[in-house]
Amino acid sequence: MKNCSLWLDDVKMSSFPKLSENIKTNVLIIGGGITGILCAYELKKRNIDAIVLEQDTIGKGISKNTTAFITAQHELLYQDIVKNKGYKAAKSYLKLNLKAIDMFKELGRNFDIDYQNCSSIMYSSNSDSKILKEKQILDNLGYKTELIETLPFNNLSIKLGIKFNNQGKLHPLKLINNLAKELIIYEHTRVENLKGNKAYANGKIIEFKKVIIASHYPLVDKVGLYFLKLFQKRSYVVAIKHPPFKDTYCSIDDNGYYFRCHDNYLLIGGNDRNTGKQCECTFIDKIKKEFKFKTIEYSWSNQDIVTLDQIPYIGKYDYFHKNWYVATGFNLWGFTWAMVSSFVLADMIEGKAGVNLLDPQRFWLNKQLFINIKNTLKNMLTFRKPRCTHLGVALRYNNLEHTFECPAHGSRFALNGNVLDGPAKKNLNTEKIERQATLENITSNKKIQEN
Ligand SMILES: Cc1cc2nc3c(=O)[nH]c(=O)nc-3n(C[C@H](O)[C@H](O)[C@H](O)COP(=O)(O)OP(=O)(O)OC[C@H]3O[C@@H](n4cnc5c(N)ncnc54)[C@H](O)[C@@H]3O)c2cc1C
Repeated sequence: MKNCSLWLDDVKMSSFPKLSENIKTNVLIIGGGITGILCAYELKKRNIDAIVLEQDTIGKGISKNTTAFITAQHELLYQDIVKNKGYKAAKSYLKLNLKAIDMFKELGRNFDIDYQNCSSIMYSSNSDSKILKEKQILDNLGYKTELIETLPFNNLSIKLGIKFNNQGKLHPLKLINNLAKELIIYEHTRVENLKGNKAYANGKIIEFKKVIIASHYPLVDKVGLYFLKLFQKRSYVVAIKHPPFKDTYCSIDDNGYYFRCHDNYLLIGGNDRNTGKQCECTFIDKIKKEFKFKTIEYSWSNQDIVTLDQIPYIGKYDYFHKNWYVATGFNLWGFTWAMVSSFVLADMIEGKAGVNLLDPQRFWLNKQLFINIKNTLKNMLTFRKPRCTHLGVALRYNNLEHTFECPAHGSRFALNGNVLDGPAKKNLNTEKIERQATLENITSNKKIQEN
């Protein structure tokens, strides 16, 4: 079994130079994931010059570990949006995502990205009421859906599912690699600081008129108070040899699975949890037990960022920086949202209005905000070491993945102290970490046995 995503085995990614001189650009894009690349590509189509700076190599952040469902159906979110924000907001959400899908289709016609038109299904194994409610709401929005009662393989049961036709799936790294060939990109160029209309990377200065921060977790998160407005969720995926089927499926139940095929592989994802919360067993053990698969070919995990209302922040970064833009908080549905970011931010850069629904400054007093604040305070006041290098929150040891995780903001560190996921930028001091890990390991093993 390989401990990496299957996409990485399929594509030889192009490489790009390191920034080695001061430069000026109209638009600077920070981050060469799907968001940064799609934004740069859209600006190029509109003849606006832009450069992308990537701290590592393109596509090697979260985007390499996605499952790349291309859908406007994000669990059963339309009923929540109607309840909390009304029909107009739900209509806007649907329209933006359907436009994104059309744009992916267009890319699929022009580039070899394994784009396949398919249906997207959300299903429940134990309840039909939420599915029926979602259908009713989509009917009211004038969007045609179908109900389904079967799944393409027997290991899972279904009570009812709701199907969106004309959605898609693709190969994420083929997409990033193909578009990148047309763009100006500097790799191994980490933006260390951002001030006014200047960025600092590799000891060089980049002067820009506008900047798009597409670094997944916003680069300077204290500006705009993003550390209060965001939390992170992890998810796990395996790939298994399997006869192909066409559509994409996602359970809306707690502890449910999502799955799709690519070539002769079946990708199954699940075990979703907030970063910092421990799982009871590894996803591989769970899959082997529940599905009786003998051989798992690939296994990987990943995390994405969630906003207070599960709707992304795409627009002006904060009140004080008129030329800073952000795209973050995609809630594990970042492909259509990355495409939405590309046309919404390009419009804004051209002087048009943003989209109210996505405004990062929208009213943010809600239940999730208090959960985030409580989580931060509780873990800041906890007497436990090591502490996160981001805001000093006490880290939790994950004895299944052998990592230290911040339960408030989602930073992760390897046992040698290296940052695996931000917002933390600085590595942990490795002194005493291994001893701490051993202690935590013993304690959590004991707790599991006691349970
Ligand atoms: C398991 C899993 C499955 C998923 N499946 C789906 C799915 O089926 N469909 C879907 O729509 N979404 C899915 N998502 C969500 C989607 O993959 C993400 O939302 C999306 O890939 C995020 O892209 P990004 O470009 O914002 O981030 P990234 O891909 O992380 O890109 C950000 C880039 O910025 C760079 N960077 C960071 N800081 C700096 C800096 N200071 N200077 C320079 N560069 C910097 C990083 O190195 C990175 O390359 C899934 C997520 C998970 C966790």
